[in-house]
Amino acid sequence: MTTVPYGARSSALAMLDALAKKHPVPLAAIVQLTRRCNLGCRHCFQVERAGVELATEEWKLVLRRLADAGVLFLTFTGGEPLLRRDFVELVREARALAFAIKVKTNGLLLDEAACKALAAAAVMEVHFSFYATDPALHDRVTGLAGSHAKTLAAARHMRELGVHVLLNCALQADTFDGYGAVIEFARAEGMDWSFDPGIQVQEDGCTRPADHRLAPGQLERLYADPRLSLPLALEDTGKKLRSTVCRVGEAMVAVAPNGDVWPCLSLLEPLGNLVESPLERIWVGNPRLARLARICWADLPECRGCELLGFCVRCHANALHEDGDLLGPSRLACAAARARARAAGVGPERSDDAGLAPEGESRRLPFAGGATEMAGEFTVRPRRQEEGQR
Ligand code: SF4
Ligand code: SF4
Repeated sequence: MTTVPYGARSSALAMLDALAKKHPVPLAAIVQLTRRCNLGCRHCFQVERAGVELATEEWKLVLRRLADAGVLFLTFTGGEPLLRRDFVELVREARALAFAIKVKTNGLLLDEAACKALAAAAVMEVHFSFYATDPALHDRVTGLAGSHAKTLAAARHMRELGVHVLLNCALQADTFDGYGAVIEFARAEGMDWSFDPGIQVQEDGCTRPADHRLAPGQLERLYADPRLSLPLALEDTGKKLRSTVCRVGEAMVAVAPNGDVWPCLSLLEPLGNLVESPLERIWVGNPRLARLARICWADLPECRGCELLGFCVRCHANALHEDGDLLGPSRLACAAARARARAAGVGPERSDDAGLAPEGESRRLPFAGGATEMAGEFTVRPRRQEEGQR
């Protein structure tokens, strides 16, 4: 997942990050309370919206097990987490266990009582899905008339109660021109903002959400915007080849609505279940997770010779779901890397702005090294009818 960060990391967080690398389980957990949602956003990657959900007491056991394992940061997400009737009760339980809590929501069900309960539980941050300052445009993305007004009212209410609010904006081709307005709006309201230009395909490989991705020229303008302070410089490729591709297995544990533990929120491969076992037993020494966490850039047969390697931020899950190979190139990452390189003034010429399909063959750099045998260990779900639409 490619997210444009907001603000600089504090030294305290950097220290915690260093500590996390030595800790046998991640210091952060993201808990998907439900896959149900009260919106039908056009770009959503989630396919399955039903499924088994833990009962309240089971969730409390899961939270205790996360706390016992040393998890400090807890993010509640969904679906829409407030669709759980026990949501406030679970937040209070998490607070009693001394987690630093974040909530990701669309805000539609955050009424006055829920806002006050979150503020009283000293929730650290509430992230609202927010797509545009223009209500009609926002509502077109969510598919629900009036959703903009409700989301905004809840965000303002949380802010008034002294809670840190972040507007989380999945940037799309037709909302792109308004991203500057989102920054100005957030600043005026005393809120933070974050842009995610990496619209993922659906979990089953359906490519419909990709129709809303930014065009290459838009991506390039985004990466060149000094307000976003995005890193563009070519990284030392020799050093990068020896480093891991992402922090899966290290930075954050993801928990499914049924208590299953996933490597991350995009790789939905159950490693064990937190109702049945403590986190340490599921996570520490898990051979599949260890192999995933060890994948270096040098292990990616095609990427390791790519001229854009120094500009690339690649996600195994995106490569798997969209392009069918966990170790292969990801067209989402390729497009972003090209845009970063162009924004830095060293990229290949753009052939067109029409879409995100790979622009021909990248020039390969010489490299000698051995690939891991991860391909095939994580499988793609069956593709749906949209496979051939681009
Ligand atoms: S595979 Fe890596 S980059 Fe992708 S979502 Fe998971 S942790 Fe993040
Ligand atoms: S730009 Fe594409 S091919 Fe090159 S390293 Fe990134 S994902 Fe691999």
